[in-house]
Amino acid sequence: MSCAPDDDGYPATAHAADTLEALDRRVVDCRACPRLVAWREQVAAERRAAFRDQTYWARPVPGFGDGTAAVAVVGLAPAAHGANRTGRMFTGDPSGDFLFAALHRTGFANQPRATGRDDGMRLDGLRLVAPVRCAPPQNRPTPDERRRCAPFLARELELLSPTLRVAVALGALGWDALLASLGEQGWAVPRPRPPFGHGKELTLRRSEGSGPAPTPTPPATALTALTVLGCYHVSPHNTYTGRLTPAMLDEVLERAAVVAGRRARVLP
Ligand code: SF4
Repeated sequence: MSCAPDDDGYPATAHAADTLEALDRRVVDCRACPRLVAWREQVAAERRAAFRDQTYWARPVPGFGDGTAAVAVVGLAPAAHGANRTGRMFTGDPSGDFLFAALHRTGFANQPRATGRDDGMRLDGLRLVAPVRCAPPQNRPTPDERRRCAPFLARELELLSPTLRVAVALGALGWDALLASLGEQGWAVPRPRPPFGHGKELTLRRSEGSGPAPTPTPPATALTALTVLGCYHVSPHNTYTGRLTPAMLDEVLERAAVVAGRRARVLP
């Protein structure tokens, strides 16, 4: 299934996807944002010299990880020469190198390095998601592009809701997109919306029966408490400057593991 560019109704049909696999298929076929479609394909045509012999993915990037995750990590958008090249969230760029190493140290990933979709990486109890699924120029999606893509994140969170206990938001944009999405799904997000902060923790609640508009296949159980954790984004701007250190990221992931009822494991 595909749609014409600027078909901004297409992501809105995300609610009809009754499994994560069905949602992923809708995501990768989406062409609703003309600017992002043009950019992801231009980057793939020009390529970076180091990847000259590779064929870029050049499509929207679906979520990656455990379909029964207790923890969701919410990023921002694919990187032009990272996920837009490899087709998997955070795979193939310095942000992903930093994140996957931490996921391995804390027991969520079976290996510390992600290089491509066939590298054997498996996530246990955790899923990587993003509010915007296409690489944006300068890593800056417009408000319209964020709004248009929002139904994909909303539906992914709904489909994960039977098991989801914690959402880790990477950076202020991830934080804002996550809280906006959760608010629309009936979670009691405080008003005014709490500002992002590294290490910030919120516990959101909703009563039985509240939530999004009915969908063809609603989640099997209603989650009534969700913890949201803030963490600086794993971008080189933050990690190269020491604003976000491996220890700081480990601490957030360990907290997520504890809240999710997992035994945190931190490798040296
Ligand atoms: S950013 Fe989202 S809504 Fe826009 S084209 Fe990509 S997948 Fe579709």
